[in-house]
Amino acid sequence: MQVRVLGVRVDCLDMGAALERIEELVDTGGHHFVATVNPEFIMGAHKAPEFAWVLESADLCLADGTGVVWALRRQGCQMRGPVTGVDLIPLLAAVCARRGFKLFLLGSAPGVASDLAARLRAEHPGLEVAAHSGAPDPSADDETLQLIRAHQTQVLLVAFGAPKQELWIDRMKDRVEVGVAIGVGGAFDYLTGRVPRAPVWMRRAGLEWLHRLIRQPWRIRRMAVLPVYAFKVLGAGK
Ligand code: UDP
Repeated sequence: MQVRVLGVRVDCLDMGAALERIEELVDTGGHHFVATVNPEFIMGAHKAPEFAWVLESADLCLADGTGVVWALRRQGCQMRGPVTGVDLIPLLAAVCARRGFKLFLLGSAPGVASDLAARLRAEHPGLEVAAHSGAPDPSADDETLQLIRAHQTQVLLVAFGAPKQELWIDRMKDRVEVGVAIGVGGAFDYLTGRVPRAPVWMRRAGLEWLHRLIRQPWRIRRMAVLPVYAFKVLGAGK
């Protein structure tokens, strides 16, 4: 089931189904793009037609955030909870290890992706995982492409933040030959402990945004769209 939240497509899939779908996309062959859609994406897509178009081209749009799950439930999608990039990565790494899919971690500050790669390798000794901090700027493309190709990457996680990572994936889609590319925002920072995640009770209460705002107050401008999002979803009736 596919739902539109304020015009942006989101797939009604829980974590287990999302992982199965990603596995299928890799098995199918060819290049695929998976977006992790949160309320900031939806509001951003309204402002930037290019971002909206790229999201529309995604093979899978996962509901990343309580605000999106809330909007989906209002339209009859029975989801248990959000499918965030940070929750997805450890489970996807287990799938990659089991299936022998080669995983590549791209983005974040120097040393972060390689730290996460080492952690994932320690957890899954058979996992073939490579990492590169890279940059979304075109001047970094050739080096990044060379590394991705040399690794024979099948699952590529891109952590440049939204919408840079989605625009990067789209710009590179004819040159990057991976099964699935997924934009994962700040997930590497959370998974390596560089940025602490909200406590479970806050996540369950849908207050992860508040924790983020307290820890990273400079986000206030970007997060100012969240009340507007809530108001618009309520106003949309469904
Ligand atoms: N980042 C990067 N290159 C850039 C801009 C950002 O690698 O040019 C990384 C940054 O280090 C961080 C991630 O992208 O790890 C963005 O995290 P953020 O939490 O802001 O992303 P969001 O989840 O809000 O999209």
